[in-house]
Amino acid sequence: MKMVVEHLSNLIRIPSPSYLSNRGIIDYSKRALHQARWQSREMIYRDGAGVEKINLIAAPPDQCMDDTTVELALMCHTDTVPYSADWPQALEPFVTDGLLYGCGACDVKGFLACLLTSITASSSSGVVDGLRLILTADEEVGCIGAAHLIASGSMKPKRVVIGEPTSLHPARAGKGYCLAEVTVFGEEAHSAHPQKGRSAIYKAARFITAVEEYSSLLSEEQHPFFSPGFTTLNIGTIQGGTAKNIVAGQCKFQLEWRPIPGQNADTVPSAILGIADTLQSVDPYFKCKLQILRQQAAFESAESSKLVRSVEALTGRSATSIPFGSEASLLASVAGEVVVFGPGDMQTAHSSRECVRLSELDEAVDCLRSLMNGR
Ligand SMILES: [Zn+2]
Repeated sequence: MKMVVEHLSNLIRIPSPSYLSNRGIIDYSKRALHQARWQSREMIYRDGAGVEKINLIAAPPDQCMDDTTVELALMCHTDTVPYSADWPQALEPFVTDGLLYGCGACDVKGFLACLLTSITASSSSGVVDGLRLILTADEEVGCIGAAHLIASGSMKPKRVVIGEPTSLHPARAGKGYCLAEVTVFGEEAHSAHPQKGRSAIYKAARFITAVEEYSSLLSEEQHPFFSPGFTTLNIGTIQGGTAKNIVAGQCKFQLEWRPIPGQNADTVPSAILGIADTLQSVDPYFKCKLQILRQQAAFESAESSKLVRSVEALTGRSATSIPFGSEASLLASVAGEVVVFGPGDMQTAHSSRECVRLSELDEAVDCLRSLMNGR
């Protein structure tokens, strides 16, 4: 069996949804790396449930692990989304019609298998100075491992390739991901005497209508590299009131937006607060709270950057943008150039159809080896 298929099959057999420890994947990777005489260092933390999680940093033989000047980091996460109970073959990889199926096949154990193959199947002589491999935990639940890595200050890479399924296109830009919860407060009363209370639901409805109007203005700021080329906004959930015969005392809704690169991080939150101020100016009893739950910035590497150009040249594919969130948002805050790249198509990920094309695995191995050798 080809080495990359063997690595990927072995990795799929190790369950690693984010709620479990990623120890199994880390240990497997370490064994492969140590066979190739690479050195590694674990950065361990406990997640919110107290489960051990590990970020791993590895360096080629003869390079100083402690050197924080990193020319090129090749990075990917080690967790998967949970697989559903009606997918009995989630952890039993199989190949059919040139495609390898299994949980994590493309998101993103495929890329990890390619990394391990490109390291274990070839000599480390001639690799770029300051090369690192970085494996992270908890990407699927909010890039928590990558956040720990950055907070430690131990890594300021000049160029980073982040593995995610992009059908081998170098993705040099991605929208951000932000989430907030808005709570609108009213005053409860018996619904037979509505004038005794103040309905939080009516107030929230006015708020939401104003947010919808504001969202249409977001298309005025365009970024031509995306489709749609503007920051999108969605109110995905709403909860309010306690019973049909009570004037609602509280109403909450979740507001999500995906900012384009270059947009000020405060643009949407300050507009939302502005809407609240306007509502309050006409209704002195209007009261609300905005709580930002997530604020992940967009990223963009210049079209002319060295890394973008070299992955374009190596793959023969032009740079693109990605519509999904990734660790690139975080890494872009410390790295000079970031490219997201990997085998497989995200449209099969997070489903029981998840697969990766074997020919793309082979191509990715060649491409990673060239990158490691400074091409
Ligand atoms: Zn992923």
